[in-house]
Amino acid sequence: MPDWVFDFSLFGMPFHFWTGVFFVFGSLVGSFLNVCIYRMPRNESVYSPPSHCPHCGYQIPMWLNVPIITWLWLRGKCANCRAPISVRYLLIELLTAVAFASTWLYFGHQSPVVPWAIIVLLAIFIGSSAIDFEHLIIPDEFTLGGTVAGFLLSAAIPALQGCTTSVEAMKRSGIGIAIGVALVYAVVRLGKLLFGRERVAVPPGSKVIFHEEGIALADKALLFGDIFYRRSDTIVLTAQTLELPDRCYRNVEVRLRPETLMIADEVLSPEDVPYMEAVCDQVILPREAMGFGDVKFMAAIGAFLGWQAVVFSFGGSALMAAGIGVSLIIIGRRDWSSRLPFGPYIAAAATVWIFGGSRLWQWYWERLRGG
Ligand SMILES: [Zn+2]
Repeated sequence: MPDWVFDFSLFGMPFHFWTGVFFVFGSLVGSFLNVCIYRMPRNESVYSPPSHCPHCGYQIPMWLNVPIITWLWLRGKCANCRAPISVRYLLIELLTAVAFASTWLYFGHQSPVVPWAIIVLLAIFIGSSAIDFEHLIIPDEFTLGGTVAGFLLSAAIPALQGCTTSVEAMKRSGIGIAIGVALVYAVVRLGKLLFGRERVAVPPGSKVIFHEEGIALADKALLFGDIFYRRSDTIVLTAQTLELPDRCYRNVEVRLRPETLMIADEVLSPEDVPYMEAVCDQVILPREAMGFGDVKFMAAIGAFLGWQAVVFSFGGSALMAAGIGVSLIIIGRRDWSSRLPFGPYIAAAATVWIFGGSRLWQWYWERLRGG
């Protein structure tokens, strides 16, 4: 690294001045992520209205909107109505601040510009993990937005891809995107082929009851929380008769998704139909290990970090998910049929790659080549 680049990028300030800048900037980004985490899954704008208390609507003034400090100072309560504010707000701000400062400490000596690209990806990881954890979805703003951002940042900062020219870096980023999409897409498809959709045969002409919490078959009850994993998951059945509280159908196909209920061509909201009874011969339930949100998420990782990171994150996340999933089942917190969000595992594995995994990979392949 020539001296002038280093001096220019540090603006003549000591190295740890920038550690502080990254920490404070991280806390501010964390504060914005908190807004995204709450509003994006609810399809609300992240820009307006400005931050307000969800209990009393009190609009939080600038001087009370200081990340980390405000929460601690008010001891997690609204300044106006004293209603409790979730500790999640504090944790996300702290986590983002620590992640940003760590990025500077880890990469700042090699290149003062690469950390600015890495923190974009880490912010995406924190936001999408929190949303996936709670809602089992990853918003496109993070996955598709992240893919575009990774490609553009690779062009602007070729060192992000370990390159010296923009063209070379864009090529690597592009290959990363392609491998990310291809690999996870193949797994999603293969998963559908292997597990398919679960067909639950019921005795001909038996009754299936849909209530607010789930469905009741002749011999078992299933909760929607265990059936639906992604927004696109669908329960399908052909009803000989279908009874709703206020009307009745004959020989119709019923398709139920978390947010829509289709009876033949009619589209209803599941919330408006708290109860229905169907007579049918079989019920088809969705079943998949990964969803298409994960495909897009992996594309974003490839765009920022290249295809090797995709392969590493994919393998690492599968191992982690299997390990944690089995442990939860053993301690009785989950059963085999329940679903876990996969995004946080992908994010965790990719974070391992960023902070050391890539060196491990290099070391491994060099040893392999060396015999
Ligand atoms: Zn309040």
